[in-house]
Amino acid sequence: PVPVLQVQDLRLTLPGTARPVLDGVDLTVGAGETVALVGESGSGKSLTSRTALGLLPPGAIASGTVRVEGEDTLTMSAARLRALRTGDVAMVFQDPRAALNPLRRIGDFLTEGLRAAGTKQEAATARAVELLDAVGLDASALGKYPSQVSGGMLQRVMIAAALMGDPSLLLADEPTTALDVVSQAEVIALLTKLRERFGTGLLFVTHDLDLAAAISDRVYVMYAGRIAETAPAETLFAGPRHPYTAALLASTPRPTAQGGRLAAIAGQPPDLRTTIEGCAFAERCPLATGLCRERAPEPLPDPARPGHLAACHHTDRLVAEGTPADA
Ligand code: SF4
Ligand code: MG
Repeated sequence: PVPVLQVQDLRLTLPGTARPVLDGVDLTVGAGETVALVGESGSGKSLTSRTALGLLPPGAIASGTVRVEGEDTLTMSAARLRALRTGDVAMVFQDPRAALNPLRRIGDFLTEGLRAAGTKQEAATARAVELLDAVGLDASALGKYPSQVSGGMLQRVMIAAALMGDPSLLLADEPTTALDVVSQAEVIALLTKLRERFGTGLLFVTHDLDLAAAISDRVYVMYAGRIAETAPAETLFAGPRHPYTAALLASTPRPTAQGGRLAAIAGQPPDLRTTIEGCAFAERCPLATGLCRERAPEPLPDPARPGHLAACHHTDRLVAEGTPADA
């Protein structure tokens, strides 16, 4: 089957940077699959997901391909992209309140996409009620304004809105970060349930390894605009093959204000005003050698682990010596 999202060799250059912000990203999401894209802030994970919707920052120059259901969004017309955004692909953002017009009722917000696409009001409202029910809200939400419901409820409304056009791909960018712990758990449970019910492919963008482990079938770990490692979720968390992933997993998690866990490791990702020779992680990597500083590692498959690739010259040493404890 055609993957719902297929990103191949995506490169994105922004004005004023010395190297691409996305540097050869390969990523796929299969139909009905939940894929987590994990990385620190600035790693390029949000940019990667937004290119699927053709939402590129001003001045960005992209190369490679980004296919949604086989159609390349990088070369698509603006009109086709708009149609795509109310149909095959939808997005749930970090802060639902910021994404909503406070002066419009939730019902109008939910139905506007279908109405614009020519659906009659009655049918659009019926669909809105059905999806509100699917996310655990009743029809009384239709008449309410965003200020009249809680943040957790609003994120449910956003998920219902995302499903209005019956998308094959849902992009969720840190969708629980602005919520309290209880609402976070509810939204995660809801996304999992909806995936089962509607068969929507989900790309879940997060900095939170625990969330990624809880929700995803497969994981991509991103570092400095490149995919460091990808594997089925269980395999990745049980035995990382990239020192960056290993360091994230081994580091002491510190609680965030919202109660989630944010893994932190020493040092900073490379500045975008600098070029990188070799491996982007070399400055922070306990296993780095001269080779690492000279030549960028290509993603290599682990023959014993289907679907597990790590872009590292010294994966064998990581396996032999174990996880670097204090990277
Ligand atoms: Fe570390 Fe070298 Fe592997 Fe990069 S290629 S992660 S520097 S061991
Ligand atoms: Mg982001």
